[in-house]
Amino acid sequence: PAFEALGLSPSVLASIRESGYENPTEIQQRAIPLVLELKDVIGASQTGTGKTAAFALPTLSRLGPPGNFRCLVLEPTRELALQVVEQFEKYGKHTGLRVIAIYGGVGYEKQRKALQEGVDVVVATPGRLLDFMSDGTANMKNLEVLVLDEVDRMLDMGFLPDVRRIVESTPKSRQTLFFSATMPPQIKSLAEFALKDPISVEV
Ligand code: AMP
Repeated sequence: PAFEALGLSPSVLASIRESGYENPTEIQQRAIPLVLELKDVIGASQTGTGKTAAFALPTLSRLGPPGNFRCLVLEPTRELALQVVEQFEKYGKHTGLRVIAIYGGVGYEKQRKALQEGVDVVVATPGRLLDFMSDGTANMKNLEVLVLDEVDRMLDMGFLPDVRRIVESTPKSRQTLFFSATMPPQIKSLAEFALKDPISVEV
């Protein structure tokens, strides 16, 4: 099917047209309708498959008007967080939603100010987000969508305990999207803990 047949909002469809994408990739065709139905999804797919748009497009579509801290995307590295923010900004250009990256190795003040001014989508690495959670800057009580991306790389980097703590601090009513190229036992157990009746999409 074409992008127009997947149920995305008009403002998101406008930015897809501007991106020059002609057709959705396989992971996009399969995941986008599920995300729009508010299902929890496990996506087993590598980078390069269009995975980021597979979660960013329907998330931007379903969030509606700006609020505060309604979507959190966890990434293992600052580099990935910045790439994902860039895609959210591109696809969300006509939505009015605000997106920021939160990562370590830089000063706190700019990121703290951005969080305090209000933001819809936060793309974060776990350690710095936990810092902002413990000092009260990051409040996730309005969170609607949690995306755990590159979970196998977060495992390799020793982040799973941090990820678990973050998941525990989000509302139970959230939708959770989970992406990992491989599914070793520790990752399966995190998925069981974090997701509710998930649907698996493998490409
Ligand atoms: P990812 O798998 O998320 O790392 O995406 C790989 C690259 O594919 C990114 O640079 C995207 O801009 C691009 N891309 C994503 N979806 C599509 C699409 N439907 N058609 C063409 N390019 C796409």
